[in-house]
Amino acid sequence: MLDADQGIWSYRNALPTVPPEHRVTLGEGRTPLIRSAAIGEAIGLPNLYFKLESLNPTGSYKDRISAMAVSLAKANGKSACIGTTSGNAGASFAAYAARSGLTYHVYVQENIVPAKLEQILVHRAQVRKVRGLGFDPVIGAKVFDTVQRKASENRWEPAITAFAYAPLAMEAVKTISWEIRDDLGVPDAVFVPVGGGGLLAGIYGGFRDLLAAGKEERTPRMAACQSVGCSNVVSGFEDGSGRPAPGHSTSQISGIQVPNPPDAELVFRALAESAGFGIALEDETTWRWQEELAAKEGIFAEPAGAIALAGAAQAAKEGRLRREDTVVCIVSGAGYKDADRLHRMVAPHLALPLQEADRL
Ligand SMILES: *Cc1c(COP(=O)(O)O)cnc(C)c1O
Repeated sequence: MLDADQGIWSYRNALPTVPPEHRVTLGEGRTPLIRSAAIGEAIGLPNLYFKLESLNPTGSYKDRISAMAVSLAKANGKSACIGTTSGNAGASFAAYAARSGLTYHVYVQENIVPAKLEQILVHRAQVRKVRGLGFDPVIGAKVFDTVQRKASENRWEPAITAFAYAPLAMEAVKTISWEIRDDLGVPDAVFVPVGGGGLLAGIYGGFRDLLAAGKEERTPRMAACQSVGCSNVVSGFEDGSGRPAPGHSTSQISGIQVPNPPDAELVFRALAESAGFGIALEDETTWRWQEELAAKEGIFAEPAGAIALAGAAQAAKEGRLRREDTVVCIVSGAGYKDADRLHRMVAPHLALPLQEADRL
């Protein structure tokens, strides 16, 4: 039987305190870390691993954060949470709010992929769609401010998956690194998709905590993977400006279209401290690796969940990694999240002629 002392809660001593009766769980965390069966060898990284965050209850790592946020809300006697989402945080908060009897108010981006919106609606969240959210940095910032204002006016829990807005709930992201370390030790490099930056910042934070506590002697190098069409953090790191590059997002990869990344500064620091780097990838490249991951490894990821592998392949080609390096790619979300993309992947093979059973 599932207890609230498993999954992320097995690290409860290192997480914000929540009394056991307020801990909410749907089985998030403790995801498999599996070794590459074929691709690693092919790209010159025989010690390549995948962390299957796609196997969390609602199909993305966001479940670690919403489990913590909703538990904190309950412990503090709150009746609702409010946030904004490109899809996965929404699907996750909707499920965990339903589980714990909280109302969930959420602003979704204009071009949210239908499967993610449906996943939010099935749990009966209160949804509002906002014009320009997901493309326009000014609108993104405005919506973040509105969420923060309404959260404090109404005493609702802020449901934004960024350290800048929900630092306590974001502590739960560190459990990803603690699990990797328990399974494998500290890897040489970890490749992470970057939208708002909280995922990478949290994973690095988990390793840095181990270093600070004297339990490990180093952190992995962190590699930030973004779409060329929304490569604000990668460019801001490379040009040394210390600020995310401004501009609209033209990326087609759901989940990492964040023109105003709230945790950019934490990512810059993580990359600098860990001797890490950023990689910007064309959407076509990410889609090709999404197909390879399904065909050669049996792992069905959404495009944002495949961009870390695209980044590792690119880094190997550019000589940024050594052959003996232990490399972990974060597979952040599940393939069923983006049904349109799935359809496009298999469309050429869908028209199957019907055959007679006695002629096979
Ligand atoms: C949210 C999300 C990301 C990006 O995380 P950030 O913290 O916004 O950088 C990457 N992949 C998936 C599948 C996501 O849902």
